[in-house]
Amino acid sequence: MALEDVLHRIRRAEAKANRPAGSVELTAVSKVQPIERVEAVLDQGHRLFGENRVQEAQGKWPTLKQRYDGIRLHLIGPLQTNKVKAALELFDAIESVDRESVAEKIAAELEKSGRSQPLLYVQVNTGEEPQKAGIAPGEADALIERCRGEYGLEIAGLMVIPPADEPPAPHFALLSKIAERNSLAKLSMGMSGDFETAIEFGATEVRVGSAVFGDRVPGAVTAASE
Ligand SMILES: *Cc1c(COP(=O)(O)O)cnc(C)c1O
Repeated sequence: MALEDVLHRIRRAEAKANRPAGSVELTAVSKVQPIERVEAVLDQGHRLFGENRVQEAQGKWPTLKQRYDGIRLHLIGPLQTNKVKAALELFDAIESVDRESVAEKIAAELEKSGRSQPLLYVQVNTGEEPQKAGIAPGEADALIERCRGEYGLEIAGLMVIPPADEPPAPHFALLSKIAERNSLAKLSMGMSGDFETAIEFGATEVRVGSAVFGDRVPGAVTAASE
């Protein structure tokens, strides 16, 4: 089974990197997947999922959370300030904090709602790709400092999506270095094609979609029914 296979590969990569068994978590990326596949993975006992769009996530997870206990949901896609409130209502972690306006909005919404802070990760655009979300590596320390100092937010870790057309290892290494000098424990890095490499470079969470669920099916019904 695909889920078991991916979990097995994660355990093997941990061992190869001399890291404790269980030190890497699997975030199963369920975006654009037919809802039956998501339910099948839930039925196998998996509980940590990633989504990249707030609106799509709103169509499935409130219902699935009523049917399954212990679901944890991470937002791994770009976040606009006008979606922050909805994101805070649904997600246990926001992995895409990449500018001060978003940090400011998160702090303001938390204050207003009295909610506890979700896990927050700063997304770093290590490849400095203009079309991609994330803060430039040279500005990451300053953003983390502003989040902590100015907005009173606790930052749990960092997230990266390396450029598709480059070897990922230098990007994983850079993310790990930025995390270390900012005393951040969590590193969300590695996808279906490179999660074993990411584990070698210290990933604490790998975000794997197609290797768990199969190829994404554009236009599939992703919403859950009661
Ligand atoms: C879609 C997506 C993934 C998963 O990609 P796969 O190649 O299917 O494993 C991981 N991270 C982010 C941010 C994504 O948008």
